Order: sequence, then structure tokens, then C-alpha cells
Amino acid sequence: MSIKITDKLGRPLRDLRLSVTDRCNFRCRYCMPPEIFDKNFQFLPKNEVLTLEEMAYITKLFVKAASIKKVRITGGEPLMRQNVSHLIALIREIEAIEDIAMTTNGSLLPKYAKELKENGLDRVTISLDCLDDEKFRYINGRDISVNTVLEGIKAAKKAGLHVKINMVVKRGMNDKDILPMAHYFKETGIVLRFIEYMDVGNSNGWKLDHVVSKKEILSIINEELPLEEVEPHYDGEVATRYKYKDNENEIGIISSVTDTFCSTCSRIRLSAEGKLVTCLFSNSGHDIRDMLRSGASDNDLINRIVNIWNARDDKYSEERLYNTDKQKIKKIEMSHIGG
Ligand code: SAM
Ligand code: SF4
Ligand code: SF4
Repeated sequence: MSIKITDKLGRPLRDLRLSVTDRCNFRCRYCMPPEIFDKNFQFLPKNEVLTLEEMAYITKLFVKAASIKKVRITGGEPLMRQNVSHLIALIREIEAIEDIAMTTNGSLLPKYAKELKENGLDRVTISLDCLDDEKFRYINGRDISVNTVLEGIKAAKKAGLHVKINMVVKRGMNDKDILPMAHYFKETGIVLRFIEYMDVGNSNGWKLDHVVSKKEILSIINEELPLEEVEPHYDGEVATRYKYKDNENEIGIISSVTDTFCSTCSRIRLSAEGKLVTCLFSNSGHDIRDMLRSGASDNDLINRIVNIWNARDDKYSEERLYNTDKQKIKKIEMSHIGG
């Protein structure tokens, strides 16, 4: 029996995103600016972070509460979490889960890709913002080479993982890299998804001028590499898909700023410290860890999940379109909830 629960705007709950750590080995300037996330920055202490078993347990509760079928592991950098493959194995044991994906910066995939696949991971989305080595070393704030990520992509493919690439586009940072990235990935058969730079959190100094719109990205590529739009795979797909006219490969554009998709948003996020977050732009989450640790019954925990979802009325991106002051409110950082 499939259980469908809806929020105040009639949206079903379908996907769960698990942030397994708030730490990262990169300091991407649009996500964890190195001046703020420096050596004095207080990351979550270990006892506040959910154990892998607790995360798997909560995932089971989501299956019971809402018949979720898809889980994405993210962070921070999920591969910085010790033994994250064990979490994948635990989730793989949950029969109802059909799809397990991970979003990663790719740098540790040469070490872990094989083990992740063997433990049941289906897909990885690897973030890469340009192919220009000097620029990439600057963007990631840790002098990490493009080649490190390319090796990660290679390792993921070799292990049999399905791979997609995410490129956040920020004006003045990597808008000149849109075409080189499109050319490169067109030939590899790997889908590249361009993401409009978002005002997540409060530390990245976001301005509307920094956003390169979906329309602009599309016209830059289309002029040199003609594209045609493709039907969405499923209801609520966040990327608009396009296919190259002379090749079967596709790109996607995620237009979270200029063309919102709140009306079909069916995701909930669990932060590393056990807070349920109903929108990427929420200013706080709903605790579930303390309830779990104090011995609440499954029924109580499931009711909590259902009540949180039933009360949800988030539509930040839609509201921001008409009121850009909205972005000044206090919001959870991206590295805490994982995009
Ligand atoms: N560390 C992993 C990674 O980078 O793939 C997973 C976590 S990261 C927060 C998830 C995704 O969010 C990445 O693809 C990253 O590029 C994207 N992201 C981070 N900050 C963003 C922003 N301000 N706007 C749009 N996307 C952003
Ligand atoms: Fe780390 Fe990912 Fe944020 Fe970059 S985008 S700082 S890799 S969490
Ligand atoms: Fe979903 Fe919030 Fe993004 Fe709208 S703004 S699509 S509700 S995460």
C-alpha cells in the first residue's frame, strides 16, 4: 500500500535528502567562503550528529509515513563522513527504496567509488564548476585541481555508477566556462546540469546580479550547439532538459531563481544533527533526533513526520521573485542541508 501525504499546498512528500555531515574538504566561495568557514569555525560536535544507524532508522520511518522511494545522500561533503558506505548498505536493505543517489564534489571518489557501488549506491551527481584549472583551484578555496575531480568522475563510471555533473553558474565567476563545459561533456555522454546561483544561507554575499538566468545559459549554448527541449522524466523534475540536435546527449538547467518550481517541490531534508527541513531556504528545522534518542515510539515519530509535512507551506523561490528583500532573512547554510 502506498501512503501519500500532502502539505498545505497539496504537494506530496516523495524524496528524502540526508545530509551526513556539515564538514567539507572544499571551501567553495559560493557555499562555504574560507573567510567564514575558517579554522575557528564551530562545526557540529560528534555527539550532536546522527549516527548512520539513526539515519537509516529515520529513513525507514519515512517509508512508513509517506512511502518514499528515493534517497539522496549529501552534506557538506558526504565522502568526508566516515564509513558512509555502511549507511548506503543499511538503506539498500529497505525494500521500498528504489533509488539511492549521492551529491559529491568527487574528490574522494577514486578512493570510494567501488565500495559505494558494492554497497548499493545507484547514482552520483558530481559538482564541477569549470575546467580551467587555475580558476577551479580558486573557486574551491582549497587549491584542488580539476584533474582530481575528473579522476573522480572516471572512477565513478568505472565502478558502474550512473553519473551526472552539476555546475553552479555565477556571473563573473564562471559564466565564461558554460560553453567549454558544454563542449566537454557533450562528447562524454554525461549529462551536465547548470544551476542558477542561489541565495542559500547568509554567508555567500548573494546578489541578483550574480545570477545567470536559465534563458541566458540556454542562449549561450544554443547559439553554438543547437538544442531542443525534452519532456520531463517525471512530475516535479527540477531541471528543464534539452537534447543536442546532432547528438543524443542532454543538458539540464535548474532555474531555482528565475523560473521557480515550488509548486511541485516534494523534498524534505534531514540535517546531520537530526533536524527536518522543509525548504532549502528555511531558517530552522524541526528536531527529530532528541525525540528518537529519548525513546519515542515509531508511531509518535511517524506522526511527527506527517504533522511537519502537513503543516508545510514553503514557497520561498516564488516569493523571492516578487520580493528580493526576502533573501535578507536568516537561513540555514547550504553546507548544513546539502542542496
Ligand atoms: N559537497 C557536495 C557537492 O558539492 O556536491 C554536496 C553538497 S553541496 C552543498 C550540493 C550542491 O549544492 C552542489 O552541487 C553545489 O554546487 C550546490 N550549491 C552550493 N551552494 C550553492 C548556491 N549558492 N547556489 C546554487 N547551488 C549551490
Ligand atoms: Fe563543499 Fe559542496 Fe559546499 Fe563546495 S558546494 S563547499 S564541495 S559542500
Ligand atoms: Fe522547494 Fe523551498 Fe525551493 Fe520552493 S524554495 S522549490 S519550496 S526548496
